[in-house]
Parts: sequence; structure tokens; C-alpha cells
Amino acid sequence: MILRKKSGEISRGGFDDKRDLGGRALLRCGRVFWKHPAPMPAPIIVLDGLQKTFRDTRAVDGVSLAIAPGEIFGFLGANGAGKTTTIRMLCGLVKPTGGSATIGGREVWRERYEVRTKFGYVAQKFSLYPDLTVVENLRFFGGAYRVPRERLEARIEKLLGEMDLTAKRDAMAGALSGGMKQLLAMACALIHEPVLLFLDEPTSGLDPVHRQQIWDLLYHLAHDGTTIFVTTHYMDEAERCTSVGFLHAGRLLARETPRRLKASFKVPVLDMHVEPVMPALVQLRAAPGVLGVSLRSGHGRVYAADPRALVAQWQERWPFPGLTWHGHSWAEPDMEDVFKAYSQGYHAILGEAAP
Ligand code: ATP
Repeated sequence: MILRKKSGEISRGGFDDKRDLGGRALLRCGRVFWKHPAPMPAPIIVLDGLQKTFRDTRAVDGVSLAIAPGEIFGFLGANGAGKTTTIRMLCGLVKPTGGSATIGGREVWRERYEVRTKFGYVAQKFSLYPDLTVVENLRFFGGAYRVPRERLEARIEKLLGEMDLTAKRDAMAGALSGGMKQLLAMACALIHEPVLLFLDEPTSGLDPVHRQQIWDLLYHLAHDGTTIFVTTHYMDEAERCTSVGFLHAGRLLARETPRRLKASFKVPVLDMHVEPVMPALVQLRAAPGVLGVSLRSGHGRVYAADPRALVAQWQERWPFPGLTWHGHSWAEPDMEDVFKAYSQGYHAILGEAAP
């Protein structure tokens, strides 16, 4: 149990009560006996030079970061960047080969059986029992997490309602749609009311309505003090995180709020209105001074260290005889631009956004 002294100092790290971890008022016997203002709460997750090497692959290469209680932390990176391996180490499923990681002050590998009861984990692959019904899956996970029997049925009903699964309670899990399977996986991961939830691409392949439903739920949980650690390839979801970390080839390149990451661009991005657009992408990409190009709303979005100089140069002499230049516009970078810049290593246009 955490005891907050009047100074706001926390006497011992741990995770017995999520309200304590949120740094909010402590309720005991229905009475508020100590309230904000509290100092920054101690981080719930701390990684210090965490490493994992598989034979000759350095999947995670010395990652250090701290995550505060109640954060929605988005873990971003290209395929193979090392996100899943990091989550699996934090969940005590893979043994680190270097560095350390703690959850609530406890070492994730050495104390994995103790730590495991404190978090929920929604894996990338469907990990439920397809031949059990929705309710049977929930009962199974409730039993595995030792949810007291007198609480379990009420908990199941609450989660079925929150996940819109009440009508499907007796359906086989294997017969659910992809979105419903994801919602059931989340319900199972939440059955024991964990203070921390790991989600590995929870919305992958879902339609926008189900994606929104899952994110509404994540906000709800975070609002109640649950810490969320989520990987995603959707940049609109990255925008919704309180902070994000960019992993590239096992290394953490940046850890910031989405707003500050976007502000780390030293230059605006240039949208070239050029036709025909597909050959334009190829030719612009090969032009001197251009770092990269992507297709955005029918235009070629150009990343360059000095885009204004490029425009001036092209106005003087247009070097692409097969392309018609209709005009150009400037755009503020969004998270898709940030992802592209970090994952492609466009260091010339990125300012400091150190972890
Ligand atoms: P994705 O976005 O595609 O899920 P990721 O960022 O989660 O990718 P990881 O799955 O962590 O990436 O993989 C990181 C690297 O580690 C990859 O090169 C992968 O091939 C390698 N790797 C992961 N698990 C193993 C394993 N069990 N044995 C050998 N190599 C592995």
C-alpha cells in the first residue's frame, strides 16, 4: 500500500490501489484524508537501458524511459522496430538480455509472477479460447487472475455492458467478428481491474466505429487512473496519446507529447500540386535537396531541409518537362509526417526531441 505523507512524499512504490497511483485524493472508510496538490507521481513503468538480442538480432537496443500513472503512452515504430519484444519483456514473457525494467518498483523478469497480476495484456494475435463462449472466456480469465467469486459475476456483467457484448454472451468466441474478438480480449484483460494495460495493436484491422469504441474505452480507463501502454500503426491514434515514443531498429529516437513532436519539425512541409501525380512522386523523390515524398490528398508532399529554396529554384527553372506544376501549398506537419521523418531518418528537418 502506498502511503502519502503530508509532504506528498510516497513512502513505498507499489500498485495496491489505482487511486493512489493517480495521485488523487485517498479514500479510506469513505473519508478523504489527504488531497492534492501532490507532486509528480512516481513512474509506474521504468525502463533503463533495456535490451533483447535474439541470436544475431538486436531487437531492443538499450531503451530507457519512464511512464507516469494514468498516461496513455503510444509506442510507435515501423514493422520489426522492437515494440512487441519490449511489451513482452515488460509482461515477463521474454527475458531481457540487458538493462532493467520495473513496473510499480518491481523487476519485470525476476518478480514476473507477482507483477503479472497487476496488469492486463491484449496481445497482437487472438489469444482467447475459440471453443468457449464469451462468458466462459471471461470466467476463465477471472479464475486465472483470482477474482473473488462473489465479485466475478458482477464484473463480467459490467464488462459485457461496456464492450457491447451482452447480446453475444453465449456465442463462441471463435465465431465473433474481428472487432468483437478485440473487445472480448480487452474485457478479459480488464477482468481483474488492473492498474496498467498493455495493448499490442488493439485496433489493427478494425473498422472506424470499433476503433472509436476502443479508444473511448481507453480514455475512460485512463480517466479512472489506469495507465495505458499501446502500440499502433495508426497516426490518428498516436495523436490521441498523452505521449508517444518512437522506436527505430530497437532504439528509442524520441519520446514526447504529439504536440511537441510535431513542433520538432524545423520547416513546414510542402505540398506540390503536380500532374500526373504518380510519375511526379518518383521524379520529385529523386530531385536534389529532396529527402522524401509521399502522396497526400492527391498531392506530392515533399520533405526537404530547405523547401522554400527548392520552390524558388523550381520557379526559376522547372526541371521536370513531363510534369505540369499547378501550384503548391504549405502544411503544418501531422503525426504521419513525424512518423515518416523519424522512421526514414530525415534528421535534417528534425529539431531536438530527446527522450
Ligand atoms: P510489428 O510492428 O511488425 O509488430 P515490432 O516493432 O513489434 O513489429 P518485434 O516483433 O518486436 O517488432 O520484432 C523486432 C525484431 O526482433 C524483428 O527483427 C524480429 O524479426 C525479431 N524477433 C522478434 N521475436 C523473435 C524471436 N522469437 N526470435 C528471433 N527474432 C525475433
